[in-house]
Amino acid sequence: MANHIIIYGHGAGDPGAVGHGLTEASYYRDKLDPFIRKWAGKLKNNTLTVANEAENQFVETQKGKGIYSMRNFASITEMHLDAASGTAKDGHVIIAKGFAPDAADKRIRDVVKKHVGLRPNYPDGFSYRNDLLNLNVAASLGIGYRLVELGFITSAEDTQQITANMDALAKDLVQAITGEVIAGGTTTPETGGNSNNKGEIEMYLIHAIDTGNWYVSNGVQCRWIRSERMLKNYKNEFGKLNLRVDNMYSTELYKEFPKDKIL
Ligand SMILES: [Zn+2]
Repeated sequence: MANHIIIYGHGAGDPGAVGHGLTEASYYRDKLDPFIRKWAGKLKNNTLTVANEAENQFVETQKGKGIYSMRNFASITEMHLDAASGTAKDGHVIIAKGFAPDAADKRIRDVVKKHVGLRPNYPDGFSYRNDLLNLNVAASLGIGYRLVELGFITSAEDTQQITANMDALAKDLVQAITGEVIAGGTTTPETGGNSNNKGEIEMYLIHAIDTGNWYVSNGVQCRWIRSERMLKNYKNEFGKLNLRVDNMYSTELYKEFPKDKIL
């Protein structure tokens, strides 16, 4: 028996990212929430509480409430949607740098993979950060916390996938967060919306924040862009390529692509 809490990102006047007729705040509060509450209500051995939706839990934490007032929960799961220009798509799970994903983190990662797909630049589906307020406060208090980026609100494909199967998505999320298997079928297919694991290659740029170096990757290989001319080319100077950019520290980069493997 454990009590868990889920936070919908943004809110209280902050819509978060916007795209395809959705806002981050309203997607979770207006669309997914009824399904989350429905499945949370069916839990028998655990509880899942929805954090006050009238509040922005980032602002609440800044005021000394928010995460600070969630010490009695076994875990906190904060839901967001990514935004970028161009063709960026798919989701990932953010946990504190220096921590290993726990079983619930991995189950949630698998839900993202099933319904939306995982970003190729996070092969195991996890991004490790130490520059997010709620994440840092939770880590300092010793509370299990993860931030879920359930795909890109700026992607037509992702927004289709996160709205098509919401009953099944919510059931999977509630089960993943609590570790409890809930009886009962869903009104939408339980197979998930991510039918396009075709292994298509998507190129993207990586900017190492600390060294200023630029790289181009297809998720499997990573090449250092040594000349300014090539970088300009990749950065859409000629209007053809419009690659998304991931900013990260070189330590994170080398975790994904060992230094001696970078071309
Ligand atoms: Zn957000």
